[in-house]
Amino acid sequence: MTSISLSNHPQRRTHSVRLFLLMLFFAAQLGIGQTNPFRLIYPVDNGRHWVDDIQVLGMTNPQSQVWINGAPVPVDSAGRIDHNITLQAHKNTLTIQVSNRTTRWDTSLTLWRMNFDHFNADSQFVNKNVADSLWLQVLSPRSGEMRRDRISFKGRTHPDATVLLNGDTLQVFPSGGFTGLLELNPGENVFAFIAALDSEILRDTLRIVTPRPEDPEELPLFIEDSALPASHRWVTAGDILQVGFDGRPGQAAYFQIPGSMDWERLIEEAPGQYRGFWRVTPETPQQALKIRYLVKTHRIFSHYAYSNGNIRLLATPLGAITTSGDSRVYHQLGEGLFMPLGEGIALTINGLEDNYFRVWLSDELHGYIHRRNVKLLPQPLTQLPVQVGSLRGTNQGDWQQFRFFVGPVHPAYTLEEVFEPRRLELKLYGAEQGWEWTTFPEPDGDLAYLERKQPASHTWQMNFYARSEQFWGWRGYYDGDYFVVEIRKPPVIKSDSLFKHISIEIDPGHGGYERGAIGVTGYPEADANLRYSLKLAKLLEEVGATVYLTRTTDTRLSLAERAEIARKDSVHIFVMAHNNAPGSGSNPLGVKGTSTYFTWPSAKQICDATYPHLLEMGLEPYGKITRYYYYLLRQTDYLVFLIEGGFMTHPDDEMFLLSEEGLDKLAQAVFNGLQDYLIQQATHQEALETHGIW
Ligand SMILES: [Zn+2]
Repeated sequence: MTSISLSNHPQRRTHSVRLFLLMLFFAAQLGIGQTNPFRLIYPVDNGRHWVDDIQVLGMTNPQSQVWINGAPVPVDSAGRIDHNITLQAHKNTLTIQVSNRTTRWDTSLTLWRMNFDHFNADSQFVNKNVADSLWLQVLSPRSGEMRRDRISFKGRTHPDATVLLNGDTLQVFPSGGFTGLLELNPGENVFAFIAALDSEILRDTLRIVTPRPEDPEELPLFIEDSALPASHRWVTAGDILQVGFDGRPGQAAYFQIPGSMDWERLIEEAPGQYRGFWRVTPETPQQALKIRYLVKTHRIFSHYAYSNGNIRLLATPLGAITTSGDSRVYHQLGEGLFMPLGEGIALTINGLEDNYFRVWLSDELHGYIHRRNVKLLPQPLTQLPVQVGSLRGTNQGDWQQFRFFVGPVHPAYTLEEVFEPRRLELKLYGAEQGWEWTTFPEPDGDLAYLERKQPASHTWQMNFYARSEQFWGWRGYYDGDYFVVEIRKPPVIKSDSLFKHISIEIDPGHGGYERGAIGVTGYPEADANLRYSLKLAKLLEEVGATVYLTRTTDTRLSLAERAEIARKDSVHIFVMAHNNAPGSGSNPLGVKGTSTYFTWPSAKQICDATYPHLLEMGLEPYGKITRYYYYLLRQTDYLVFLIEGGFMTHPDDEMFLLSEEGLDKLAQAVFNGLQDYLIQQATHQEALETHGIW
C-alpha cells in the first residue's frame, strides 16, 4: 500500500500470535479445576531480572485475601491481583500468602536482580554475574517431538568454560552465551552438550524426534481431508476455483462437477499433489454440491472421493454488516490488511472461502473479511451507493475536522497517507457524490488543497493535501449519519526550542509475562527495551519535551492498551522501543544489527533521520524497513516508528544490550534522530513562513 519499497525481512517473529497462544494457555489453566486457590502468572521462581520494578500477576477467588511480602494487596472483582514489587538486592525473596474461608496457601520464590554494568574502562565486555562454580544451561529448545528440519539453540555457561556439542567445540562468548543451529534428521536426534572448566565437567542432552517420511507406496489413494475445497464455498459465476486432492503419487486423477460437466483430468503438480481449475458458470446448479474425484488404478475398480466442503452458487450478492469494533478486511484470505473497519459498516458479500466472506467493493476490487465479524442481512443492500453530502471543515483544538453527510448506511472505507504527492486519500466503497460544494475551514490549519474524484462507479474519493507535506496524525470514523475526517495540525517547531511543543510517547515493547525475544543467555527483550526507554525519556525531558512512557516497570500491556494510552496522552510521536530476533529456523549467528521500521510516509522521515545515528553505535546495519501489518505501526493518530536496537539472539548484540554503555548509546541514537528530524521540520516551517506558500 505504500510506494516506498525497502528491504523486508520475512523472519521476524509475530508478537501477536505468541501472545494469543499465551493467553489461550492461561485461559485454559484457569478454567481447569480450582484445586489451587492461587495461580501465579508472573514472575517465575528463580527468574532473572534486569530491571527493578516487577509486576506480580496472579488469579485467585475474588473473595480471597492476598498478602505479598507480608503486606495486604487488593484483589479485583475478577479475582486478579496486579501488584508491583521492587527488587532490592541481587537475591530477593517473594512471598505470597492467600487465604479464603476454607484454605490457606503460601508460596515463596527467589528472584534475581542481575548486575548489568558489564563494560570495563576500555569498553571490554566483562560478565559481572559469574558464580563460583561451573554451570551449563541449554535454554532452548527443549527435548521432545518436532516437525521441522532445523532449529536454533541457545545456552549459557561460565565464560571461561569450553563447550562441546556432539564433540565439536562451540564458541563461548564473554557473556557465557553460546548459540547455533541444529540440523534435524528424520527419527531421533541426540545433541550432547558438555561444558568443562578446570577439572569440572557438566553435561546436558537434548533428544528431538522428527517424523520419518512415509513410503509413497503405502500412502492411501486419497489422503483424508485433502480434497478441495476444504471448507464450504460460496461462489458467483465467473469465479475460478482450484480443485484437487493429495494422495498416492503416480495415479491418473480426475474431477467432476455433478450435473454440470464430464470428468476432467487433474495434473500431478508435485508427487501425490493433484490439481486443476474449474470456472463457475451461470448454469451451475444452485443447490449445494460437492466436487467428485476419481482415481483410476490398474485394478478393475476405480476409486471415488468427494470434496470436504460444499459449493453453493450465489445468484445475487448478499448484504451484511460488521459486528466488531475490530473488523478487518484483507486483500487475500486473512493476509494483507486492506481496511481496518469498525462496527456497523455495510458490506456486499459475493463469496465465501475458508471462513472468509468475499466483499465486493467495485467491479475490479474485492476483499475478504472473517465471517465471525459479519452479520448477514435478510436482503441485499439496495441502498448502496450512498449519496455523499457537502463537506464542512472546522477547527477543533489541535485538529482540523471535516464532516459530510452519508446517512444511516455506512459504506466501507480506507483513509491512508500516500506518497508523491504527499496526501491523505479517503475512499468510500459504495458512495457517489451528491452535493457539489465544500466549505473550507478557517485558514489557520495546514491544509493546502482538497481534491474530489470518482475513480470507479461505486468509489468516491477525496484527497487532502497538506501545506507542509508532512502529516502529524489523522483519523476517520462515522459519527451518526456523518463521516468525519480529522487531521492533526503541525506543532510549532522553532530551531531554538525544538522540543518545546512536542509530546512523545515511548513504548517499551513487551513486559511482564510477555518477555519478547529471549537473548542468547536468557536476557529478555522486555527488560532491554525498558532500560533504554527510561534513558531516552531522561534525555528528552532534559531538553523540554513532554514525555510519556506506556510502562515504567516490568508490566504486561496489550497492543490496544498501548495505542490507547498514547491517544489519551495526545502525543505527536510514538516511539516503539524493541530489539530483534530472527525465526527459530535460521542461524542466530548469521543475523545481527540495528534497524528501524515504519508504515506511513510521514514516519519514514523520522526513520531517515534516526537510522544514521543507529549506525554510529557500531552495530551492523540491518535496514530501514517498511511494515504495513504491525498493529502499532499502523496507528495514525500520531507519528509512529519502531526501533529494533539489535538482535537479542546474536551474542555480540546481546552483550551490547546487556551493558549500560550500549543502552546509553542506543538511547542517545534515538534522541539524536528525533532531534535531527525536528531540526528539519523547524527549517521547513520557517521557510514556509518566509515564502508564504499558502
Ligand atoms: Zn519486540
